[in-house]
Amino acid sequence: MSTTLDLDAPLTAKTVDLGAQAPTKLAAVGLTSYRDVLGYLPRRYEDRRALPDFGNLVDGETATVSGTVMSRVGNRSRRGLHVFRAGMTDGRGQRLTAVWFNQPWLEKQVFPGVRLILSGRVKRQGSRLELAVQGFEVDDDSESLSFNRIVGIYPTTQGLSQAYLRRAAKRLLDALPTLPDYLQRSILEANDLVSLDRAMRSGHFPESEEALAAALRRLKFDDFLFLQLALLRSRDPGRVARSFEVRQEYLDDFKALLPFSLTEHQESALQEILADLTAPRQMARLLQGDVGSGKTAVAAAAIYVVVRNGAQAALMAPTEILARQHFLNLQQYLFPLGVRMELLTGTLTAGERRAARERLASGEADFVVGTQALIQEGVAFADLGLAVIDEEHRFGVEQRRSLIKDLPDVLVMSATPIPRSLALTSYGDLDLTTIAGLPPGRVAVKTALVPATKRLEVYRFAWEQVKEGRQVYVVTPLIEESEALDEVLAATSLEADLRQILPSAARIGLLHGRLAGADKDAVMAAFRRHELDVLVSTTVIEVGVDVPNATVMVIENAERFGLAQLHQLRGRVGRGAHASHCVLVAGDASRKTRERLGALVKHADGFTIAELDLRLRGPGDIRGTRQSGLPELTIGDVVNDGEIIEAARALAERMLAADPELTAPWAARLVVELRRRSRAVMVREII
Ligand code: ADP
Ligand code: MG
Repeated sequence: MSTTLDLDAPLTAKTVDLGAQAPTKLAAVGLTSYRDVLGYLPRRYEDRRALPDFGNLVDGETATVSGTVMSRVGNRSRRGLHVFRAGMTDGRGQRLTAVWFNQPWLEKQVFPGVRLILSGRVKRQGSRLELAVQGFEVDDDSESLSFNRIVGIYPTTQGLSQAYLRRAAKRLLDALPTLPDYLQRSILEANDLVSLDRAMRSGHFPESEEALAAALRRLKFDDFLFLQLALLRSRDPGRVARSFEVRQEYLDDFKALLPFSLTEHQESALQEILADLTAPRQMARLLQGDVGSGKTAVAAAAIYVVVRNGAQAALMAPTEILARQHFLNLQQYLFPLGVRMELLTGTLTAGERRAARERLASGEADFVVGTQALIQEGVAFADLGLAVIDEEHRFGVEQRRSLIKDLPDVLVMSATPIPRSLALTSYGDLDLTTIAGLPPGRVAVKTALVPATKRLEVYRFAWEQVKEGRQVYVVTPLIEESEALDEVLAATSLEADLRQILPSAARIGLLHGRLAGADKDAVMAAFRRHELDVLVSTTVIEVGVDVPNATVMVIENAERFGLAQLHQLRGRVGRGAHASHCVLVAGDASRKTRERLGALVKHADGFTIAELDLRLRGPGDIRGTRQSGLPELTIGDVVNDGEIIEAARALAERMLAADPELTAPWAARLVVELRRRSRAVMVREII
């Protein structure tokens, strides 16, 4: 059956009678069409199938009850506090006094004869029973939508009651014929989904817990399905890139000069990348793995294959320091193979930059490493075949999309492990390759959590390590992120502090964001050459440097960092043959801090830590979808809906594989809904 009602009609058309005032009243929560009302789902649900008799209420507990007002009285205390009390009966002979503070307007709503549903804290003193009201509803509801059932609680504003919203939803649903579904029955069955019609009806008025769970599952699934379709389609599936030849000979040559053999994880990551290089469509892949998991080695193999095909490759790093680091690293792999490499950074002279550009333009150079800005602006490659983007900092979907558009095959490397559920949403426009675990032979970094009172001992230990020839990082958080001057202050005062604490022989260097690029480089270079023992820095400075001789990472005020960030910092040590240590100095001694930071002591794996971090801090604004016109999640939850996300992703991929442009008859309704959801966000964004 198809709907005969135009859901997109404005409420003012009054094709369904939701009450004379409906258009004005519902506009208060942003609802202007029937579709809006249908899609306006409860934010949470209360089980009101068996509300307790007053007699069963327990002192100190929070409870929801329903009853009728018998009497009421409002008072102002001597201190000016307004106290409003209503005597209630539950109709079964029990009484209770409901108490509200400082809400004098209640006198207009609460009077004898009115039925109320109340939630609050129970106070029982002998036979006196009180409820300190935290939330309540006037139950002016003749259709019994508000009690004796599982009841949805809608987001609302003052003056628009729950009962009113429920009634509006009910009248609309009653007037609606079966909602047409944009998913076929076979898809519903395969994914264990109820129909859209069932989901909508149960979402507003759940018949049971099971029906509610099934409804939410379907509605969440749709959230993620449309997001995935939009993300995957943003990749321009028709985009042709060239198809590289992957000869065994190239891989053999690469591996022959590699001082180790690739791990199983590296090998399978490489296979995924090589399959993309072989395929005629553009590669857009995220390669993620912990610091030191061996991403660079894998990327080097891909670069080599492209170069052997006669094409060029580029690696773009977010900063000068990191570009140099990558250059040195990759040189180890690629130089012996005869790859002609260039470094393109701001500290080269204009003449050197010009010469490098010319070699890239003529094809005399095979591979360039540089900062993004330098490579993006005006390098005319003879034949760029692969761009590797080191994403130490993250782009939003929109930025990434425009960057990738101008490039050939693209491999994004991230050393910030992200749980898969989040990666599939925030990086959903990319295919995902993960290197789990670390190469063999790496000694885990010993991590300790100490209170600030033990700081001196920490630095005594650090000094012992220095005396044994090792080096030390000390990192301090920014007090105020927005204030660049505070950053200097934080770093310089820590430096001054350390000059007091450590023996005068200690060679201490300082890095902070206000140093000029050349000065930063000079400090880093000195540290790398072991002309410095201790490097003090704020985290705005990427400590993204590989100094194998550095074995101690001290993090001051560690509680100010997220777990993932701490893990990232810890990854700066443990890169050489010596045992390494990470010391988290907790600036506060609270139990919460101890528990949170304790996770780092306990876990070494970046993905485990990222998962914990996500649970503790929520996904935040990582998706970067807001300004991009992508469908928004209405009830889908990145933290808890991993299984649904996987299923939706798989279905979206299958749909697009079957019909990249979604023009087949089966996709007709789906496309309409996809457009509607994508547009809805854009419109809201403009307002
Ligand atoms: P990432 O780029 O993920 O930080 P790298 O590729 O730079 O990791 O590798 C980190 C370190 O581990 C490097 O010193 C590298 O030589 C070494 N390494 C990489 N892969 C292996 C492996 N399969 N076996 C042994 N050592 C490896
Ligand atoms: Mg690396």
